[in-house]
Amino acid sequence: MNFEQLVRPNIQRLTPYSCARDEFKGKAAHVFLDANENPYNAPLNRYPDPLQEELKQELSRVKGVPPTHMFLGNGSDEAIDLVYRIFCEPKVDNVVAIAPTYGMYEVCAHINDVEYRSVPLDEGFRLNADKLLAACDSKTKAVWLCSPNNPTGNCLLRSEVERVISEFPGIVVVDEAYSDFSQQRPFRLDLPQYPNLIVLNTMSKAWGCAAIRLGMAFADPAIIALFNKVKYPYNVNLLTQQQAAEMLHNLPKLQQWLTTICTERSHLLPAVAELPLCRRLYPTDANFFLAEVTDADSIYHYLVERGIIVRNRNRVVLCGNCLRITIGTPQENCELLAALRQYR
Ligand SMILES: *Cc1c(COP(=O)(O)O)cnc(C)c1O
Repeated sequence: MNFEQLVRPNIQRLTPYSCARDEFKGKAAHVFLDANENPYNAPLNRYPDPLQEELKQELSRVKGVPPTHMFLGNGSDEAIDLVYRIFCEPKVDNVVAIAPTYGMYEVCAHINDVEYRSVPLDEGFRLNADKLLAACDSKTKAVWLCSPNNPTGNCLLRSEVERVISEFPGIVVVDEAYSDFSQQRPFRLDLPQYPNLIVLNTMSKAWGCAAIRLGMAFADPAIIALFNKVKYPYNVNLLTQQQAAEMLHNLPKLQQWLTTICTERSHLLPAVAELPLCRRLYPTDANFFLAEVTDADSIYHYLVERGIIVRNRNRVVLCGNCLRITIGTPQENCELLAALRQYR
């Protein structure tokens, strides 16, 4: 991979902002008069660690990825946007993605004025590496994959993903926002093999922390250096860093949530499959499932009337008459089933 050619020229030339906390790294100091902070109101008066070193150490234990291979952002959405800002020249470069998939890849492409090419998944929402690679050209800087995929719920076939990473001469992003719910080996553990791979993780799903906005990108240190160069200096606030660390100290809680949610998933799916309104249920490795129903718009509005909100994917490619339904608590899932059983 030729890194020089991949990175936008303005980003290669960029001298990043040097913040007060970057310049000072000694441990002995106790008088901080370098950042124009108010000396009162500790600990909120101080700028947070711009590179979140402590939190990365803790995450490293749980994720099996060294801190040197980590970027932390304001949700995964920050990492998604940074991929465009670092690698894609507006109006010139393009990216290639599977369809259907997570909407932010396309929104961020349009915001950055970068052409977005979608390649429909095959029957059963399977990835076809040949079709995806055929859509790439010399101006394709990044390929977007998501596994388990949103909104379809399935994992992409590992051998096809591996082919894309090995054969595409640019950045390949594999978004593993839902990998905690899956038994498949996560790609973040294979980073050493793939210098062009970026794996995304988030605290918004399995970790139950969507409110704190913490996303992760795992990649080769050369890519991480670019993320750090372009990001806002204090992109992850202190309260988020503290709350994330607290979650990492309560791994049994995470395990318990995962067990409950996966058990609920195994009960809810067959029950939904038996309903007369259900035409097809797609297999899922995530904490949601995609169901093709008799009339998605009507069932969606019927559920809204009963105070139950699901995601209507009726207007998404290959998702005609499909609803995406998140696994809730046992009680919430019961309520959903009861409502669906009464639908006429
Ligand atoms: C929910 C989700 C995310 C999470 O984004 P955050 O900005 O971290 O909340 C990322 N990718 C996919 C595919 C998702 O479904």
